[in-house]
Amino acid sequence: MKYIEPHAHMVSRVTDDYQRMALAGCEAICEPAFWAGFDRSSPAGFYDYFCQLTEHEPKRAAKFGIAHFSWLCINPKEAEDVEFAKDVIALIPQFINRSNVLGIGEIGLNKNSRNEMKVLEMHVDLAARYNQLILVHTPHLEDKLKGTRLILDVMKSDKRIKPERVIIDHVEEHTVKLVLDRGHWAGMTLYPETKCTPARAIDILDTYGHERLWMNSACDWGISDPLAVPKTALEMKRRGHRAAAIERVIFHNPRKFLAQSPKFKLPAA
Ligand SMILES: [Zn+2]
Repeated sequence: MKYIEPHAHMVSRVTDDYQRMALAGCEAICEPAFWAGFDRSSPAGFYDYFCQLTEHEPKRAAKFGIAHFSWLCINPKEAEDVEFAKDVIALIPQFINRSNVLGIGEIGLNKNSRNEMKVLEMHVDLAARYNQLILVHTPHLEDKLKGTRLILDVMKSDKRIKPERVIIDHVEEHTVKLVLDRGHWAGMTLYPETKCTPARAIDILDTYGHERLWMNSACDWGISDPLAVPKTALEMKRRGHRAAAIERVIFHNPRKFLAQSPKFKLPAA
């Protein structure tokens, strides 16, 4: 089996996780900027984090033959203070040309507040000005549907944004169709407790097909499983999915989306 982990927060993981992922067939990991579990006290904290994502983490991954890519932003969980967010966003252009940066993410909404909306629009503008891919986080609370609709409208209203260059992540049964109908890609996040379980993700694939969908573990500092993607692939096999269909979802689909950035290259075969 070979696969791409398109959304993982490796700064929170131990080195053994890289080794286990490599053993399971992981070729590339993409790491969006995320909330650290606590609010950073200054933009300088983000400067260091962006250095970690673009300098240090690729070296850790390379030891196991895994390519590492990153996405930069201030996550919606820290976006309530608009002036603070402006200072962080102003740091991003100096990192954007680094060799492993694929785009702006994971941006989006957490509580669907007005300030979060402002910061989302600032990020979308940044992505448009620098011609970057976009990775979007949708809220996990009961207002996921409302948050997803608000995000889709922000994407639609900025005419510079091409829908096929945007992945909307953490989709569930009630949001996946909305996202695909707008021409975006959709990500399913496999979590042991919350978000989408492997069984639900496979049901979604059975219902909506394999076009423009990917799966990720989003493994972070919380209870999560860095091997969720290969484990779900095994479950697909058990449920009778063909090998080519499995490989499409766990390898070819993420590669197709990510290769819209010329920087996305897999380790030499
Ligand atoms: Zn994430």
